[in-house]
Amino acid sequence: MRIGKISLVVGFVGIGLMVASSCQADLEIHILDVGQGDCTLIISPTGGTFLFDAGWNGKGDGVVCPYLDDLGLTALDYIGCSHYHADHIGGIDEVINYLGIDSIRVAVLDRGWSYTTATYDDYAAAAAPKRQTILDGQVIDLGGGVTVTCVAVNGNGQLSPPYDDTYNENDLCVALLVEYGEFDFFVAGDLSGVNSSYYHDIETSVAAEVGDIEIYRVDHHGSASNSNVNLVSTLQPEVSIISVGDNSYGHPTQTVIDRLVAYGTYIYQTELGSGGTIPSGHGEVVNGHILIRVNGGQYVVNGDVYSLGSSGIARSDDALKLRIFPNPFEACVHFESNLRQPDALEVAIYTVEGRLVQLIEPSTGRTGTAIMTWDGRTRGGGEVSPGIYIIRLSDDSHVISRKIVKR
Ligand SMILES: [Zn+2]
Repeated sequence: MRIGKISLVVGFVGIGLMVASSCQADLEIHILDVGQGDCTLIISPTGGTFLFDAGWNGKGDGVVCPYLDDLGLTALDYIGCSHYHADHIGGIDEVINYLGIDSIRVAVLDRGWSYTTATYDDYAAAAAPKRQTILDGQVIDLGGGVTVTCVAVNGNGQLSPPYDDTYNENDLCVALLVEYGEFDFFVAGDLSGVNSSYYHDIETSVAAEVGDIEIYRVDHHGSASNSNVNLVSTLQPEVSIISVGDNSYGHPTQTVIDRLVAYGTYIYQTELGSGGTIPSGHGEVVNGHILIRVNGGQYVVNGDVYSLGSSGIARSDDALKLRIFPNPFEACVHFESNLRQPDALEVAIYTVEGRLVQLIEPSTGRTGTAIMTWDGRTRGGGEVSPGIYIIRLSDDSHVISRKIVKR
């Protein structure tokens, strides 16, 4: 049933019949053990690749490049960096220099602006020919039904430019939502979750956009400044993954471990770290890389099988879903949603300030699917200015808000 739904979705954008067979392949998400740092490799069923972060200086040459060799990957479609701290971008220039910049097929994506460290300078020099600033709301099609959506960058609209050393780097993180059918994976580097003299709470606003997911790549290695209650209670992940190594910060903290467990998650941790302990039966320290495979109605984490929509407290089958394509758009943008309560479905476009721009009438597609189009015009008929808009989709019990970018 899910395979049928996915083929409807992709069939609409015109790459139709390949899809039924490509759904037999897996989406793979590799969480590389880079010690105290982050590195995530996404491979779509059709072989589209996105490397997000690459650990500290030395971890590119020492861990990531040999890992790519083992997978037979001599090129990548995208490299992305969550933010400019060395435990995330340190290894990226090593990967670029190892593969060769021409082997980065599409782009090296980051939050733009700059940062004042030698590690950043190395990164910027290596990435320069392919470097692009990721847009808030941008949807990247990795092929085979996998999309990667930027759900936050540079403070998610809550912070004013310039986005430089004025702010803690963690506030400015790029947050990504990876979607494949009913499966959702969220990764956001070290995205801040508290308001303090160092940080701004960005997690809370991002959580409202993301909603219920399956797997959460835990923000900031399990720091107590992150994974706030709003985020965890909204995402309700069945599985949480903590990337951590020996550190002087007490990561992962017992506070965050206990909070995740309280919301019913099972934790996989790359290394022991220097902080809290996972309660017995609620997770494990893998001491190595963590592999996620998603296929049809299930996903597998290091050999453990999880059923989509039937496990834990977050039931994906109940969730209202929204796909947006293309995003950014020029002439018109399409929305596709599952129809849970057809009569109650409401779709509205707002400015980021909350002013209503347009109401969209759903046209019922095949069974269980609604397809909608916005031509970028206001209720008065005028064309909107380029910029970010919010689509708000709701029925009697669910609300989804996402950003749309008009070029
Ligand atoms: Zn970090």
